[in-house]
Amino acid sequence: MSVSNDVSGWPSLFQPRSMDPMLDLDIDVHSLPKEVNPPDFWQERAACYGLDPEVFFPTTEEEAGLALSYCGVCSVREVCLAWAIQNGERYGVWGGTTEQQRRRLIRHVA
Ligand code: SF4
Repeated sequence: MSVSNDVSGWPSLFQPRSMDPMLDLDIDVHSLPKEVNPPDFWQERAACYGLDPEVFFPTTEEEAGLALSYCGVCSVREVCLAWAIQNGERYGVWGGTTEQQRRRLIRHVA
């Protein structure tokens, strides 16, 4: 049985090369919003609103799949990722990225 990686409905900013959270995403960090309000302004519109925060702080990258699935349908994903990057959020899943993925993104644009 094959698993489809067709994510053509996703915004172009978030075209993953693979559904494997260990692999990089094709994210144009420069296209993210430049000025972002804190989560208090947008968290009520988030797909993760009201969920157990522990889901978004997995102990390993491999356990991030459930959190990433919420991010995949989240209407504030770009804002969330921009906030995380601009504020140096080191831990947890933000904006459809794991901790390692964000570190790679930041290194890539530094
Ligand atoms: S992108 Fe993910 S972590 Fe960020 S608000 Fe949406 S569901 Fe929550």
